[in-house]
Amino acid sequence: MKEKATLASLSPYVPGKPMAEVQAEYGIAKVVKLASNENPFGSSQKVQAALKDALTDLEYYPDGGAKELKAKLVEFHGVKESQLLIGAGLDDVIQIISRSLLNSGDEIIVADPTFSQYELHAVIEGAKVIKVPVDDKGQMDLTGMLTAISERTKIIWLCNPNNPTGTYLPQKEIANFIARVPEDILVISDEAYQEYVTIEKESSSLPLLSTYSNLLVMRTFSKAYGLAGLRIGYAMIPEALNRAFEIVRPPFNTSSLAQRGAVVALEDQGFIEQTVAVNQVELAKWESFMLEQGLPYYHSQANFIFFDTQQDSQLIAKKLLEDGFIIRAGLRTGWLRITIGHKEDNQQLRDHLVKLL
Ligand SMILES: *Cc1c(COP(=O)(O)O)cnc(C)c1O
Repeated sequence: MKEKATLASLSPYVPGKPMAEVQAEYGIAKVVKLASNENPFGSSQKVQAALKDALTDLEYYPDGGAKELKAKLVEFHGVKESQLLIGAGLDDVIQIISRSLLNSGDEIIVADPTFSQYELHAVIEGAKVIKVPVDDKGQMDLTGMLTAISERTKIIWLCNPNNPTGTYLPQKEIANFIARVPEDILVISDEAYQEYVTIEKESSSLPLLSTYSNLLVMRTFSKAYGLAGLRIGYAMIPEALNRAFEIVRPPFNTSSLAQRGAVVALEDQGFIEQTVAVNQVELAKWESFMLEQGLPYYHSQANFIFFDTQQDSQLIAKKLLEDGFIIRAGLRTGWLRITIGHKEDNQQLRDHLVKLL
């Protein structure tokens, strides 16, 4: 048996340690996970109630067309049903897009650092990844990305706010960028953290969909909606790509529970407002902390903060793990990414950090 040649340079994804494992390994009672940008407040109570009611009929396949959820999204975003692609989280959506569009020898352009899945799926399909470093503020270098375009470019992946830097680019800059990209190149705006943006009122690229036929916008229920365990996300796509995506998408890729949960989650925008309000307050405290400690960091518009420990960040992450805090190292030498958690947990983590730094 021989694996696909493009897999040779890749390794399996290593997720953050599960809380139970850390608890058992270090013999600690309380473990706080601030590694995967999950919502510390859980999810809407309404979703939890609706899911209990949805536990019947599990013997049936889900609605492969996700009609109810699509109808809700049509109403919520004012898009057409044919502009929607539903996936088992954005990880699934990213895979469907890559598998549908990329041939061996094609190129994609990404920021560096950014979310790792864009690169992974491009490499699996035999495409080449052109990385454009973020600037000294941690922001995507859109001019650099334009310069990186070649005849082989198929997709440009924007992540706004960008994971892991947390930085956000105003919609005007995104619009100016798309206007300069040739129409046969797909521009993707991954808005996994869009709900958290507070510096700009219209913080989504969605209004640009009617102007640019080569724009795709992605959203997920895993972050602000607090439903990472359900696995559901979606994209608003160019209609011209609907056929290809529906061929590649596995017919029952999202479960009936996930579809139902997503519908109810969209109806509870109060939960999102509360989540975002607390995040804003707690994020400000983290930024003050970085300033006090003299640690370089990027301005975040998301639910995490990325900063330079100016020492061995893997070692600091390991020591924090022994204290019961799971955070994310390994995204850039010396740097750590911390998800904004509960007020008390944030404070405790800062207290521990001061001792280690
Ligand atoms: C978390 C994340 C995703 C993936 O989320 P799903 O749980 O697969 O929906 C996609 N993009 C970015 C930038 C993320 O941070």
